[in-house]
Amino acid sequence: MEDQLRKSDMLNVIGELAAGIAHEIRNPMTSLKGFIQLLKGSVDGYSMYFNIIMAELERIESIVNEFLVLSKPQVVHYKMFNVVQIMKETIELLHPQAMMENIQIRTDFEVENFPIYCEPNQIKQVFINIIKNAIEVMPKGRFITITISRLKKHFVKVSIQDEGSGISKDKIKKLGQPFYTTKERGTGLGLMISYKIIKEHGGKIEVESELGKGTVFHVMLPIDKRRKKIQWSPQTK
Ligand code: ADP
Ligand code: MG
Repeated sequence: MEDQLRKSDMLNVIGELAAGIAHEIRNPMTSLKGFIQLLKGSVDGYSMYFNIIMAELERIESIVNEFLVLSKPQVVHYKMFNVVQIMKETIELLHPQAMMENIQIRTDFEVENFPIYCEPNQIKQVFINIIKNAIEVMPKGRFITITISRLKKHFVKVSIQDEGSGISKDKIKKLGQPFYTTKERGTGLGLMISYKIIKEHGGKIEVESELGKGTVFHVMLPIDKRRKKIQWSPQTK
């Protein structure tokens, strides 16, 4: 109990720190962008360089914004939103990181428009966490495969498959525990946050894995959690 309290205090501190740092980065960023724009207008012949600087600044800005989404306790706005669109934005955001690791993301979406009742920023955060983990465990040159399909009548199933190290059966049980990490620089918070968000959405996450072959994270969500008849089997996390 005491241990849990300590962990939750620590989580709060981490959250506040992260939000604070993200804010501190955002302000100078705005002024940098402004001055670069000014310079661009008054110096001839370097527009290509200015464009690169702007694009890179915008990239930093979007990373910082994502970070704010993660760390700030925020007002939660549920609405009907296209889950395929959320996934497309996530992939775009992670594209630079995947490119750097020479990892390709393949997609197979059953439909282009799949509205579900959700908080889009939170669902995006879940997709980011799972796909980032996939990128981090994979050797260069392999594939991540993402599928989105309808599950029965009232659910959507988003599956993220990697060709990484795989996870042993006993370790699968530890996924989602706060601070469980096998990485030197890991936080062990990504999956905990993801499980929590999906649970709040009335959904669940299932993991299938084979050592040496890879792992699939299945995220299952009700299309509209306001319909009360949705029931999962007892082993739901
Ligand atoms: P972190 O990434 O900071 O370690 P996470 O909560 O995101 O924290 O993940 C916890 C742990 O779960 C990871 O350290 C890793 O051991 C394991 N894990 C998560 N996703 C995968 C995956 N796709 N393949 C293998 N192991 C994974
Ligand atoms: Mg992670």
